[in-house]
Amino acid sequence: MDLPSSQPNSSEPSPLPERFAGLQTIVERESLLLAPYAMRSRDSVGRKHSEPQHPYRGPFQRDRDRILHSAAYRRLSGKTQVFTGAMGDYHRTRLTHTQEVASIARTVSRALRLNEDLTETLALFHDIGHPPFGHAGEDALNECLADDGGFSHNRHALMIAEELETPYQGFRGLNLSDEVLQGQASRADKTGAAQSLLEVQVVDAADSVTYAAHDTDDAVALGILTLDQLTEVLLIRELLERVRQRLAGLNDEMLRKALVHELIDWQVSDVLRQSGALLARAAPRSAQDARQYDFAIGPSPRLTQQKEELGAFLYERVYRHPRVLAVRREAQQRLHAMFTGYLKRPEHLPQKFHERAEQVGLRRSIGEYLAGMTDRFCSREYQRCFSNEPGG
Ligand code: MG
Repeated sequence: MDLPSSQPNSSEPSPLPERFAGLQTIVERESLLLAPYAMRSRDSVGRKHSEPQHPYRGPFQRDRDRILHSAAYRRLSGKTQVFTGAMGDYHRTRLTHTQEVASIARTVSRALRLNEDLTETLALFHDIGHPPFGHAGEDALNECLADDGGFSHNRHALMIAEELETPYQGFRGLNLSDEVLQGQASRADKTGAAQSLLEVQVVDAADSVTYAAHDTDDAVALGILTLDQLTEVLLIRELLERVRQRLAGLNDEMLRKALVHELIDWQVSDVLRQSGALLARAAPRSAQDARQYDFAIGPSPRLTQQKEELGAFLYERVYRHPRVLAVRREAQQRLHAMFTGYLKRPEHLPQKFHERAEQVGLRRSIGEYLAGMTDRFCSREYQRCFSNEPGG
């Protein structure tokens, strides 16, 4: 892990990096590869606490590494995406979802000649604030904190990056580049007047591509849905037809795999066709210029409509499936019981969150502690501390 200077001072400009003989600098690399409308490392606003530049890693590469080495990132491996560990071991976790988003976002970013390092960083960061048990957990925490500003995983990601991760002496947080923090802030508050950087938009588009494909895959693999039921959706019918034209005689399992492959490829190709044409027409002269246009990186109007149909179908038939709802109810009851339990018995909180309570109040501190837990740790702490409490 790279350590910042011991005495950060945001008013000092970053000194130029030491040059390693024979190595290409990030500025040289980006000037060769990136489109005019890509975000360039040398144009970064920088970090809250100024640091010397790194000799061979650009600022967004360093941001990526800081996220990758954070505890919050590792904990994504134990957090629910849609289906919990109790339902099987095939499906995505929050971590593998994040990796799939990063992979697809990098593909899109590279093809559009955007800044792949920034895109990857934003993708690895985008779900880092998710609490245990997916959106069930998020909704429960939002209810617990309703009188204290609520809870949103997108906002919580910023809290993690700016306060809760403490790898450095001298200041709190990961000291990420402004573009990474602003990109995540725009996810938390979509009402901002200005468009986000194109790299931020790529991650939003990649997130949507990713979950449309993997939720379909997981739901069929776990037996929540059949391929036959999925053919109620026009997009799925069209893609299955394309698969069958190319590959004959597939059994159901191979058909599901081919469909998921097609679902990703079809969506990514559509996003690239649509966005590539818009960018070519508008020809923004810089990353900031691109923010003035009211187009967004995303699918064509036709695919947008088809994805809405798929999304509504998945909502009704997967996210509202009795097996998923049962797990959801249990997770929500548990989080509510733990929130009330820690309020009554704060002695169960670790020291770090007692200190945090002095800054943000006990309720918010409990919310942050619960949000950081993996599913497994949450269940274990519930059993350990509160399972014998009345109503627990
Ligand atoms: Mg996501």
